[in-house]
Amino acid sequence: MNQSFDVCIIGAGASGLAAANSIDPRLKTAIIDKNSIPGRKILATGGGRCNLTNEACPRLQMTLDFFHGLGLEIFSDGEGRYYPYSQNASDVVEILMKDLKKRDIEWFFEREVINIAPVNEEISEGGKDEGKKDGKEDGKEEGFSVRIKNISKNKKASDEDDIIFARKVILSPGGKAAPAFGTTGSGYALAKKTGHGCSRVYPILTGINCRLPEGVPGIRARGTVTLVEDGAPVETKKGEIQFTKEGISGICVFDLTPHIKARPGEDPRDAFKRYKVIIDFAPDFSREEVGKRESSFGIVTEALARWVPPDKLKNMEIPVEGVWGWDKAQATGGGVLTESIDMETMESGICPGLFFAGEILDIQGPCGGFNLQNAWETGIIAGRSVSEQMLKP
Ligand SMILES: Cc1cc2nc3c(=O)[nH]c(=O)nc-3n(C[C@H](O)[C@H](O)[C@H](O)COP(=O)(O)OP(=O)(O)OC[C@H]3O[C@@H](n4cnc5c(N)ncnc54)[C@H](O)[C@@H]3O)c2cc1C
Repeated sequence: MNQSFDVCIIGAGASGLAAANSIDPRLKTAIIDKNSIPGRKILATGGGRCNLTNEACPRLQMTLDFFHGLGLEIFSDGEGRYYPYSQNASDVVEILMKDLKKRDIEWFFEREVINIAPVNEEISEGGKDEGKKDGKEDGKEEGFSVRIKNISKNKKASDEDDIIFARKVILSPGGKAAPAFGTTGSGYALAKKTGHGCSRVYPILTGINCRLPEGVPGIRARGTVTLVEDGAPVETKKGEIQFTKEGISGICVFDLTPHIKARPGEDPRDAFKRYKVIIDFAPDFSREEVGKRESSFGIVTEALARWVPPDKLKNMEIPVEGVWGWDKAQATGGGVLTESIDMETMESGICPGLFFAGEILDIQGPCGGFNLQNAWETGIIAGRSVSEQMLKP
């Protein structure tokens, strides 16, 4: 195949679909995704309810306007988190797809982009770039060859990679977290091949591995959890703590994990040794109050009280042994360095015509809608910028 497009979007996740909806319909667009359906991860967000954004996000209004424009009603839960009014993540995907289905978009599902190269460069894997070079502007070649691998189970042995040509590319392949949704981190290689630096990536918004005594896994408790690095408190979060066979989890624990990372050159296994968590099981009581108690039972459950004596109720120290892996992480820490990207347009400063959106970037937020907000806003900006550039008189 030797097709030619104005724009190619790599990744039909949150940021890719936001970008597609922000691209002028007159532009000939291709959208490629490893999955067989668009927006697969969106369906799993917010426990199936899709926590779209958060009132603390500076560009909240951009997201609200975007979804209202598509016809989606949104409500706030009173604690800053926004959801679709129906509380149904599949409605978010449906509404994102509503106009796109009517447009003349070429969809490539179960296809993985394995290389992108400016047209004046050779494609490194499998020979020379065969893409159509019709993107001349001011006498200069402009555009990209995009090499696409068929990863469908029904693929025939004779199927060869496709190469398409696109004048602009939006790279929105997500990060490395939750690979079951197609996000295996393949986007970083594409970014590096086009000259972009990446900081070390690590799983975030996930549980913390630690040893717990018998009888404790399975218990839930309310309290605060403080992450301590090299003896100094880093951050404290309040909420429900879930004790499991692997360690501790819950949103308040997830929100501490962006801070648990190796220093440049440090082995991550050594890095974990620098951290511990301190749980306060009785944040509404003073040290004196809990100190007078004979037993912790009454503030915590009997099973927890067998582990936590009264003098430890407010400062139960647990060494961190690791964080849960990529499979259970909700987001990626680190990624493509934003210094090389114009955040007003999302265009690369290193590789003109290449735009970035979403979790592939070294931008991460806590639970509560911040990561989807990043995906929506960078996708919207990238889509608009591409349209402006392509359609300028
Ligand atoms: C279980 C779960 C719940 C979450 N809940 C929330 C929440 O409620 N609120 C919130 O703000 N955030 C939530 N997040 C995080 C949020 O979903 C992500 O940050 C967001 O989806 C990132 O958007 P994205 O477009 O960058 O990537 P994604 O939405 O991950 O989409 C990237 C797409 O690119 C495709 N792709 C990857 N590489 C290639 C390639 N080489 N070629 C072709 N296609 C490729 C993938 O198949 C995927 O479909 C949750 C995450 C998980 C895992």
